Amino acid sequence: MKSRLIVSKLFMLTLFIVVQGMLHGQEESQEPPINMRFVASNIYMFEGRGGNIGISVGPDGVFLIDDQIAPVTDTLLANIRRVSQLPVKFVLNTHWHGDHTGGNERMGSMGAVIVAHENVRKRMSAPQFIEFFQNRTDPAPREALPVITFTRDMIFHLNGDEIYVRHFDNAHTDGDAVVYFQRANVLHTGDIFFSGRYPFIDLSSGGSIQGIIDAINSIFGMINQYTKIIPGHGPLSTPDELSTYRSMLVTVSTRVKKLIEEGKTREEVLAARPSREFDLDWGNGTIKPDDFVGFIYDDLTRK
Ligand SMILES: [Zn+2]
Repeated sequence: MKSRLIVSKLFMLTLFIVVQGMLHGQEESQEPPINMRFVASNIYMFEGRGGNIGISVGPDGVFLIDDQIAPVTDTLLANIRRVSQLPVKFVLNTHWHGDHTGGNERMGSMGAVIVAHENVRKRMSAPQFIEFFQNRTDPAPREALPVITFTRDMIFHLNGDEIYVRHFDNAHTDGDAVVYFQRANVLHTGDIFFSGRYPFIDLSSGGSIQGIIDAINSIFGMINQYTKIIPGHGPLSTPDELSTYRSMLVTVSTRVKKLIEEGKTREEVLAARPSREFDLDWGNGTIKPDDFVGFIYDDLTRK
């Protein structure tokens, strides 16, 4: 009886953790292992629950790109301490989504300076509703808000590197930034790049398919063939893999556009399966083929 009770308690606890994970990690279907890996030079990548985190360590302190969700913060800080004893000096948010900014409140309270595009602060300051996930978000507490915002780009001169931060209009959201470490030759794309899976395009937050394609075209002007790419979600990637992703986006969106021009309805466009040959490789993440085609259709037909 007692062991059954323990088992059932354990089961409930597991269920609780899984459900919490589903609620918080809105863009992550299967839980990846929590893991920090070396990328290049003084740069690390932290994979856990939410968007991938980029970490620069060095004599000037710790520079973080995104901070996933609040329950991960202790594990994240413990991992950072393995490679640096210095405090987190800056957190750069690639966009406002909760699986990239959920650690902000703790980080801000601990003295980190939070930096983001101005639309990130605007969206975090007001209630938000993501239609696709039917997800409501309350305004973030003051400690979680970016205290420095920018409109187009900025450069951090930190840890012996030049860190280029660049905004792209209306891509994954309306507040996206990518971060390029020039000396280390590492790029963090934020959610402009979902590696190995169809992307979530947040139309409710100003995202668009053409904005993502345009951003990737510009990114190729910033990097070279040896650049290591930390995607918003998915494994550490190469420029070739980013290029393959772009080709897939261009092919599917060109087909959807043509079907719309032929007067097809949403149902007819989905039934035509314009992403068919990509579905096996890209359709196994949170975003299923019909979701992805649906984003493009809804984007291209909105008034
Ligand atoms: Zn996102």
